[in-house]
This record gives sequence, structure tokens and C-alpha cells, in this order.
Amino acid sequence: MSTKGHVYRGRFAPSPTGPLHFGSLYTAVASFLQARASGGKWLVRMDDLDPFRCRPAYATHILKTLEQYGLIWDESVLYQSTRQSSYKAALDKLDSMQYLYPCSCSRQDLIKRGVKHGVYDQYCLQHKPNINLPHAIRIRLSIDSIEFSDTVQGSRQYPLKKNAGDFVIFRKDQVFAYHLAVVLDDAEQGITHVLRGHDLIDSTAQQLFLQQLLGIKPPIYAHIPVISDAQGVKLSKQTYARDISLSPVRETLVSALTHLNLNPPADLASCHLNDILDWGVEHWSNDLIKRQDAIVMPAY
Ligand code: GLU
Repeated sequence: MSTKGHVYRGRFAPSPTGPLHFGSLYTAVASFLQARASGGKWLVRMDDLDPFRCRPAYATHILKTLEQYGLIWDESVLYQSTRQSSYKAALDKLDSMQYLYPCSCSRQDLIKRGVKHGVYDQYCLQHKPNINLPHAIRIRLSIDSIEFSDTVQGSRQYPLKKNAGDFVIFRKDQVFAYHLAVVLDDAEQGITHVLRGHDLIDSTAQQLFLQQLLGIKPPIYAHIPVISDAQGVKLSKQTYARDISLSPVRETLVSALTHLNLNPPADLASCHLNDILDWGVEHWSNDLIKRQDAIVMPAY
């Protein structure tokens, strides 16, 4: 299927900070099925931006696990760790547009000043810090809020100034911020549709703001519920969610289809891996996905 003359291009963008868990497999499966059902391409990007948290061995392991589950990507994998010069060029562009300012505030400084929920009080915009000392770079928001339409969650109005504030675009430890990288990488890969977890829905507003400034056409967004455990905590590498490369592949894949509300038949797990995926492509529907933040997986 074409969107305004462009072939559908979706992607899965894991951070290689640990092995894939069920929550990330379910997101990968959803974006894969949607891309294939739309006759489009499915790409993989390694979000290995943060050298302190990411490991090449995890990136290799994640790619092997995707292959194990029959989720074969088109085109070569894009690694954020190779994209520093593009990020720097965008930073320079935003700087020349006078949107950036240095910020030397530490977390302790923000706590002392009573800054709530990380919404920056523009202290360093008023009191220029010594730029010879370690500092982050923030972007000055020029709009109060952003409205966007999400194909799963409906239309959203996000109060960017009130809820996010001038956000960090280059960290004090010399790492480019996720928002900048994701916007540039989605553009680089020609992504037309971003399908990802609901935990990232609010960050879409920051990304749309950057796209506006950089003259990048935004992709179409879909945020699906994340998988959480019985306590309501999102499955994540930080909470040591189980490595799904060790799980029975076909049963786990059918379970992902069930969590995507596709209602697979009971005997589907006895079919060949590719037949399970084909069944998923044939029955894929964005409309079946629940319009909620999270789905509890009690047995996890
Ligand atoms: N790398 C992010 C994650 O693993 C996903 C980024 C995105 O899909 O935009 O949560």
C-alpha cells in the first residue's frame, strides 16, 4: 500500500542494553506485521546511541533473536553509533537558528530550586554558564503545545512547555539526546510509519517539534500498549525481563499475536514459523489494537 505515493517503510528500533524480552518482541512483531500487511519494507535500527549502556554483543544477540523468530528485515541495519556527524550537523543548524543554549545545572541544582518533573526553569538561559566547564545543551521551545494524530490512540494535544520544557539535546556526558537521533534516523531511513510502545507517546511531541525546526516531514505514528507484569510495571531490560531467545519460539510468537488482539486459533502454534507469521500478516489490523497504555501479562 502506498501513502501519498510513498511505499510504506516501517522500523523496529531496539536499544542494545540487554537481550530482547517479550515486550520488545511483541512491538517488533506488530511493526513487522503492519509493514508486511501494507506491502512495505520493514527496517531495523540499532539505537546504540549511549555508549555507557549499550553493548555490541547485545546488538548481535538481538538481531539473532529476530532471525530466530523469522522477523527478517529489509536493507542494512542502521547503527546510531555511526551517525555522529549527522547529529552534529543538525545541532549546528539548530544553533545557527538560535534555538540552543548551554546548561550547566546538575540534578542537585534542579532539586534545590524545586524544579518539578524535570521541566526546566530556564535558569541557564537567563544566567549564562561558564561554557569551559562541563555542560549540556538545551533547546528553547518556541511553541506551547503540539497536536498530533496517533493511528491507535487517536488525536493528542501535548502541552510541551508545561510538561517537557526546554529539553536536553546534547548531554553533559557528550552523548546526543534520543529525540534528536530518532528524528534524524527516521528521516535517513525514509520511515513513513513509526509503530512503537505507548511509553514513547509523549516523546512524539518533542520529536515533532524538532522535525518542524529541521524541515523534516513527520512519519505517521502508532503507539501500542506496552506489556506490563502483574504489578503494572512495564517489562524492560532494567527490570530483568526474561530473554525470549530462550523461550519456545512458535508458542511465544502466537502469544504475541494474542496480545495484539488478533485472536489466533488454538492450534496455530503447531504450524511452521513462517505460516504463523503469514497468518499474522493476513489477520493484522491496527483497529483491533486496544486504545490503552498497557496490557498486563499476569503469567510473566
Ligand atoms: N530505542 C527505543 C527503545 O528501545 C525505541 C525508540 C523508538 O521506537 O523511537 O525503547
